[in-house]
Amino acid sequence: MLVDLDHVFATPLFDPNRCGIGYHPLHSEIAILGYILGVLLIKNKLFKLIFIGLLFHMITDSIDCIWMFSDCNDCYLRSEIYKTVQFFRK
Ligand SMILES: [Zn+2]
Repeated sequence: MLVDLDHVFATPLFDPNRCGIGYHPLHSEIAILGYILGVLLIKNKLFKLIFIGLLFHMITDSIDCIWMFSDCNDCYLRSEIYKTVQFFRK
């Protein structure tokens, strides 16, 4: 997917033990919120499909993260998702 282009701008370039959600600019909470709003508000079918595709990409990336966290607790503690969860727990 094109959205994974933003993985290229991440440092280090590739880390199998890193969860992409919240880490890459196009995978941030704000971007995901934008995709949801795009699906709900945009009337143009093509753009709506693009946003639906982006949301599905976030879902598959999230599932990857959950799989990874299930056998790497440290990965979870280092992830942006953990920081976000901690933020909302305060
Ligand atoms: Zn991705």
